[in-house]
Amino acid sequence: MIRVRPQHVRTRLTVWYVSVLGGILALYVAASSIFLFLSLRRELDHSLVEDIETVEGLLKFGPDGNLILSAAHTDPGEEPDQGRLMEIVTPEGRLLYHSRLLGARTLGTAPFPGEGKDGYSERSSKLPDGAPIRIASRFHMVGTRPVVIRLARSEQPLWGEFRNLVTVLLLGFPIALAVAGLGGYALARRVLSPLQTMARRAERINAERLSERLPIENPKDELGHLARVFNDALARLEQSFEQLRRFTADASHELRTPLTAIRTVGEVGLQKEGDTWHYRDIIGSMLEEAGRLTRLVDSLLTISRAETGHVQLNRTSFALLDAVREASGLVEVLAEEKGQNLTVEGDTGAMVYADRVLLRQAIVNVIDNAVKYSPQGGAISVRVGRHANQAIVEVEDSGPGIAPEHRAHIFERFYRVDGGRSRESGGAGLGLAIVKWSVEAHGGQVSLICGDNGGCTFGIRLPISAVTGVSAPVAASKERG
Ligand code: ADP
Repeated sequence: MIRVRPQHVRTRLTVWYVSVLGGILALYVAASSIFLFLSLRRELDHSLVEDIETVEGLLKFGPDGNLILSAAHTDPGEEPDQGRLMEIVTPEGRLLYHSRLLGARTLGTAPFPGEGKDGYSERSSKLPDGAPIRIASRFHMVGTRPVVIRLARSEQPLWGEFRNLVTVLLLGFPIALAVAGLGGYALARRVLSPLQTMARRAERINAERLSERLPIENPKDELGHLARVFNDALARLEQSFEQLRRFTADASHELRTPLTAIRTVGEVGLQKEGDTWHYRDIIGSMLEEAGRLTRLVDSLLTISRAETGHVQLNRTSFALLDAVREASGLVEVLAEEKGQNLTVEGDTGAMVYADRVLLRQAIVNVIDNAVKYSPQGGAISVRVGRHANQAIVEVEDSGPGIAPEHRAHIFERFYRVDGGRSRESGGAGLGLAIVKWSVEAHGGQVSLICGDNGGCTFGIRLPISAVTGVSAPVAASKERG
């Protein structure tokens, strides 16, 4: 069987609507016709009962034994049965009276079902000429003799009324469906028209036009809701695109600086002849820049892996103080070069369940900043402790501090408070972004407190692990892989 499915939603809606309405109307026509027919027939039956009761009062047997219908108020020439279709028979079916209107026709010679003693019955039938009639019959005692009165009325008027009603209803049926169909189609078109506008607008949106949004006619209806959800998705997409664009631009910019430095050092070095020391010096500078480049590329790789969720945490249980000591050991030389006093102290019982290498790198970044931004001879204090169910590392420095307007941003990628100065000291603004990501990947948080007169304290809080080190709290482990 071939099923035709209309292409447009509005056509489908209209077809559904008209079909359902057609079904309801058909039921309505059938129910109201049946109801009308039954109530007309009840009225007819009621009239027949009245007729029978009238006739019963008029019946008597004459002296010759014949049944007489005595009418008290009949006009001259009028039949005593007043033109009724009537037959009176004995319970055995012998005819006692036959109205003139019946002529040669009979209402039935054999007893009707239910016509016995005290019986009353009604039924529809047809006269031999095909005229539909309704017959009522009732058992009655005339004196001591039982008779059965059969009275009939034509059902023609009843069928006539019934036919009229059905005709009117059936004529109205297609008109009602046509009007409803047109109205439904217009309504569906109107209601769905915002969808077309949205589709046209959505077609125009591409990577270059992500700032465009779908129009919202009524924010409270379903289409408005759809447009809002779509717009929210676009906003997120736009934000991701923007971040990606910024990341690519920032990364290229950062990569260019050491590359330019390497080239410049090389070109300047080649411009004049020199001795071995001269070339060693040049190569040393170039290697320094290359090291910087390598660190930058490593940071970029870490960040991009973190973004795409491709970093697998290799967790073990260990004392946080041990990792902090290892980290400070890596930057100790720098602190010594600047004559700074770098101290590490704290609680050996603060255990964490974490990726040791990743966490150590995060702590190195924070201590390295403290060393970088603290002045010659300054003090840097690293403390490890426990609070509630958290293991805490605090790194306090004696640097210039960070102005309040920058504090909310320093954990963002490529954010530098003083671009030139921190680039000079080797930073690309990625260190703290890596710290934040790696601490949060372990279910922890980073914090920053700065004093009014300089000096900052960076805090790293991690979920504490049971000393056995089997597992950390589940909620805190945000492993990626
Ligand atoms: P960078 O590698 O350039 O230092 P970071 O992400 O580690 O990048 O730090 C971001 C910025 O935050 C730095 O440019 C610096 O301006 C500021 N900053 C970080 N740590 C400190 C600190 N201990 N004292 C003062 N400023 C800091």
